[in-house]
Formats: sequence, C-alpha cells, structure tokens
Amino acid sequence: MSSKISIKSLSYAELSERLAATGLKGYRIDQVFDWLYRKRASSFDAMTNLPKEERQLLDSLFSLALVPVLRSEQSSDGTRKFLFGLDDGQSVESVLIPDEDRLTLCISSQVGCSQACRFCLTGASGFTRNLSSGEILDQIITVERLLSEGGPQDDRRAAEHQADEKTQDGNVDRRITNIVLMGMGEPLANFAEVKKALEIMLSGQGMGISGRRVTLSTAGLVPEIEKLGRTGLRVGLAVSLNASTDEVRDEVMPVNRRYPLTELLGACRAYPLEPRRRITFEYVLLKNVNDSPEDARRVAKLLRGIPCKVNLIPVNPFPGSAYERPTDDAVRRFQQVLLDRHIAAPVRSSRGRDISAACGQLRGHASSPARLE
Ligand code: SAH
Repeated sequence: MSSKISIKSLSYAELSERLAATGLKGYRIDQVFDWLYRKRASSFDAMTNLPKEERQLLDSLFSLALVPVLRSEQSSDGTRKFLFGLDDGQSVESVLIPDEDRLTLCISSQVGCSQACRFCLTGASGFTRNLSSGEILDQIITVERLLSEGGPQDDRRAAEHQADEKTQDGNVDRRITNIVLMGMGEPLANFAEVKKALEIMLSGQGMGISGRRVTLSTAGLVPEIEKLGRTGLRVGLAVSLNASTDEVRDEVMPVNRRYPLTELLGACRAYPLEPRRRITFEYVLLKNVNDSPEDARRVAKLLRGIPCKVNLIPVNPFPGSAYERPTDDAVRRFQQVLLDRHIAAPVRSSRGRDISAACGQLRGHASSPARLE
C-alpha cells in the first residue's frame, strides 16, 4: 500500500489548500485538475506545463496510481463487467451498459453494503468499507482508458484522441455518457466521499459531466436525501421503493424500519428537483411478495404528487435467494395499473445476467480465476 495520499481523493478546495501550503502558485490547481480529470494523466511527469521541480514535488507528496482492473467480462448482450483491485486487497465491480445513444457506467460506492436488502447479493455479503472519492472516480477514468486502449500512450494525445473517437463495434471506443451510482453499496451511507466524487464529476474544473447524466440511487436514507438536496448538486435521484406497504418493505429492506414510507416519500416530495426532472423509483418485482395489482394501486397512491417514473425490475435471483421472478403476465398487469394512472413505468430487464452483472448480482470478487480480456 502506498503511504502517499491519493491525489484524486482530494476535493478542489482540499487540494488547493495543500498546494498553497507547499508554496505552489494558486493557478496550478486548475492545471493539475485539468491533467487529472480532463486529460486523465497517469503520471505527474506527464503534466508538461508544470515546471519539472513542481512535478517532482507533487510526485513526492501524492500518488496518482489508477485502481487496476483485475478482470473484465463481456455479456452476450454487450454489457461489460469490470473487477477492480483496490490497494488493500479488496475489490469492487463496475458495469458498462451500452445502448443505442448512450454508454452508461454503473459504479460502486462501497465494498459490500450494510443495508442488507433481502433480495440483493451485495447485501448478503455484508459491509466491508467505504470507497474513497478517488476510488469512485477511478472506476470512470480506468474504464474510459480501457475503452480507448490501443490509442496513443501520450496523455495529451490520448485525451484528444478520445474526444473524437468513433464507434467501431458498438461497445468500445466510445466515451461514457452517463454515470449511475447503482453498483455495490449505498452511496448515501458514504456521503462525504460520494459528495466529493460528485463535485469533481460535475464541476467544470473536474470532469465536466452534466448533472442530467448522473444518477444516484439510494435505498432510502432520509436524512441524507435531504442533505443531498441541500448540497445543490443537481444529480438525478433514484429511490429503491420495492414495496407498497411498510409491512413488506420492513421485511425486504431493513432500512424501512428506520425510515418508513411516509418519511421517505415526504423527503422525496421535498427534494429540490430541477425543472422537468423527475425522481426515479425503482421497484424490484418479487413474485407473490410485492407484485399484485393491489400493490401497484398502492404504489400509485403513495407517489401521488411526486414528479416521477417507476422502473420495474423483475428480480434477478441468485443461488440461495428467497425470491422468484414474477411471470411476464404479472409484470404486465402491474405495469398497466401504473400506466392507467399516468405514471411512466418501463420494465427494465436488467442486463448482463449471464455474467452476474445485473442489478443485485454484484459482489466484488471473481467467480473464477482472474483473467483480463
Ligand atoms: N444501494 C442503492 C444502490 C445499489 S442497488 C439502492 O438501494 O438503490 C441498485 C438497484 O438494484 C436498486 O434499485 C435495488 O433495488 C436493485 N436490486 C438489488 N438487488 C436486485 C435483484 N436481485 N434483482 C433486481 N434488482 C435488484
């Protein structure tokens, strides 16, 4: 493990402060941020508009190593899963989901998860630790690097090359367009590091990604939903609803015992949405548990007055899980009830099931010996 601080775990303000303390000029921070998050430099030495002594100084203070990919797998539907090896031997996964007009990367925010949702494999293995903001951002940077691999080694040329990359086979050689914090972990339980990572993703000095293209999904931590609203970070909010009564939600999502439906939906109603934006509610359909038309009617009632859509996700079972997928008919009936009440309710057949990359199937370790494809 490196004893140096990872430079990507520092916010703009934190890094400015540290650079000022070393006597570096104020404007260097913008140059360094540009190299880190726009040009995606992999060494301080590549930061050629900084004097050599300053590059050496930075190198003596900070580490810039990328979190390496230990393994990548490709699903028959084009989804790709990446296993990242963290400094302390832990690992997490990200999933890249290509679509016609977007390339979405689903990233992790924790090693494991403490929410213990009964239908989720990540939850079954418990919580290990929070990711640092650098480890969160590195998932994006590393995957983008892999996508452009084969391109020039030089950082500056690599960045230019990436910007006008053309799609060749539909999956690779494209830039990531959307980020979803829906991988392993509960992002709002790692509030400080997730906030820092979001700031860097969204800020002009950082990655410059539009908040409209970033979505954070939460199991429903009410105080942190409110806190997120107060940050002014205008990212999309997705809330995992997954039940229409407290009784069932208590059972499938223990977080509901702390923050029951009335409180959760109250926080959603009060959430400061940008014009024309809606909250996404995810609803994992569990056969004979939460999939009846009556459940759908209750969901519609609960969501009344909230600008929203509901993503219906038939559960992805895993060995030992207690739940089954509902029949297609049950899914359609549920969906129709919502549509009849003018609630958008697309069915999300989650992708990458053949490589355990679908919702609720991430556990952060390879199922067979490490292999890099
Ligand atoms: N902790 C966050 C983000 C990670 S889970 C959250 O709870 O939202 C991302 C999404 O996957 C959630 O909507 C969750 O309900 C869903 N999910 C979890 N396990 C699943 C499974 N086995 N099948 C389908 N969706 C699942």
